[in-house]
Amino acid sequence: MAREQSNALLEVKDLVKHFPIRQGIIFSRQVGAVQAVDGVSFTVNKGETLGLVGESGCGKTTTGRLILRLLEPTSGEIYFDGKNIPELPKDEMRELRKDLQIIFQDPYGSLNPRMTVGDIIGEPLHIHKIARGKDKEKRVRELLDVVGLNAFHARRFPHEFSGGQRQRIGIARALAVNPKLIVCDEPVSALDVSIQAQVINLLQDLQKEYGLTYLFIAHDLSVVKHISDRVAVMYLGKIVELTDKDELYRNPKHPYTQALLSAIPVPDPTVKKERILLHGDVPSPINPPSGCRFHTRCPKVMDICKVKEPEFVDTTGDGHFVACHLVPGVKEQQKQAQ
Ligand code: SF4
Repeated sequence: MAREQSNALLEVKDLVKHFPIRQGIIFSRQVGAVQAVDGVSFTVNKGETLGLVGESGCGKTTTGRLILRLLEPTSGEIYFDGKNIPELPKDEMRELRKDLQIIFQDPYGSLNPRMTVGDIIGEPLHIHKIARGKDKEKRVRELLDVVGLNAFHARRFPHEFSGGQRQRIGIARALAVNPKLIVCDEPVSALDVSIQAQVINLLQDLQKEYGLTYLFIAHDLSVVKHISDRVAVMYLGKIVELTDKDELYRNPKHPYTQALLSAIPVPDPTVKKERILLHGDVPSPINPPSGCRFHTRCPKVMDICKVKEPEFVDTTGDGHFVACHLVPGVKEQQKQAQ
């Protein structure tokens, strides 16, 4: 089903992904579900970078894979350029795959070791019938140049490159089909800190040059700070805070975001920063806590948090969304003022 287009290139509404847990070999029956993503909504505007941040297992990678339809959602809608991705027939989805690309976390495992770099980058050009023969070779050379590698690298194999260079090959492969949206799934987590900055700068340069839109997934708020326009923080399958990047780092409102930010080291020995320590591990997504899912670890927990799930509401009127009983939405603030 198509819908009216806005400035949003991607609109995710009430997205849910539960992985069933089955028991029994012959009469297999469902005995539970891993609630990996549970009612996630956000938009990504054309040309912007939305950072999606959270600890391992919070559902951020699953969200990225649902958007690319590498997984089918349990429910919810994912509008890309006005089209609901989960409803698209296979032939239309194949066509759309050109516009949606991914850069994987692992620059070692995501490149076929038996293929030359030229074949890896040229493969999507061949699959989508964009270029063949000499044209393909020329385009591969151009792409290598765009990501800061040399034309002769096309004849080499992935094991001949460093981690940072392999990630550049992954970026060139994603760029080959001129995509509109790239899901960057922790693209720098496996790299040395010095190389991380180079890859992030490259992604920013490419965004400016080609008008790309990024969903940038990371487990660390310090990584997304540089590249994001807005940031969404996820905890146990839900987004708990979403706002403009500067606003989030200046004025975090959710206790989980506050704890994550307090863990970022400040490179100034004169600045004293109080670290908020979260106790315990992230609970299992098979049986998440009642009410607010963060209540088992929240330093500000109240009785209501254990029984009532907080709504995800705009707390400022200009798009600072928070899900916490301590932070009233604009409507509630107006009611309280009357
Ligand atoms: Fe903490 Fe309660 Fe807010 Fe959840 S709703 S973050 S438990 S104060």
